[in-house]
Amino acid sequence: MTTPADYRPHRVLIIEDEAGLVDSIQYALESEQFETVVADDGRAGLEAARLHRPDVVLLDLMLPGMSGLDVCRQIRTFSDVPIIMLTAKDSEADKVTGLELGADDYMTKPFSMRELVARVRAQIRRSGRTGVFAETNEVLRGGPIELDIDAHIVRVNGEEVDLRPKEFELLESLMRRKNRLSARHTLIDEVWGPSYFGDTKTLDVHIKRLRQKVEPDSGDPRHIVTVRGLGYKFVDE
Ligand code: CA
Repeated sequence: MTTPADYRPHRVLIIEDEAGLVDSIQYALESEQFETVVADDGRAGLEAARLHRPDVVLLDLMLPGMSGLDVCRQIRTFSDVPIIMLTAKDSEADKVTGLELGADDYMTKPFSMRELVARVRAQIRRSGRTGVFAETNEVLRGGPIELDIDAHIVRVNGEEVDLRPKEFELLESLMRRKNRLSARHTLIDEVWGPSYFGDTKTLDVHIKRLRQKVEPDSGDPRHIVTVRGLGYKFVDE
């Protein structure tokens, strides 16, 4: 059953290295109230598919490093999210391989944005759900902190705490790597996107605010600890 608190826009993960095309796709989808997440190579795409739990993945076949087919195969090991392959080649062989590896649809460049949006909608309708993990109501726990992903609620010792969207995403990134290092660049990629070239102090400012909101004593953090020169670590104690 859907209540307003559970509602979130459909999220599309775009794994594509062609910046101009990404811009057009983002613009087209966001004009239709979709939320977008962008990754410009396969590895970042896989991370984003785990972290952001998209409703549809648009996956370029020709990516630097890991190929789109490999990315597709790997996504299928942990998710049945609909995947639409994007390719410059109109070759039957690629099409068949992509579909065999678990892609749900296939589009050959250049395609119209109207067509793309229609295909994305069709996949969402067909999958008949509001997100791959939407019904599991995933809750991350660590120390006194509880992060209810789908309801987008944070509790500390059972008390609801108000976080800004970036603070929430940052805490989620940290907690998904509980007791492991979260490297600075990884956090920046996940929270601000791989194309973020702003001030890296932004991360520290957000960490500071987060500590003030969730740590018992923000001057002596026990859960969001600094790993000098490398990043941060969420410690579950
Ligand atoms: Ca490409």
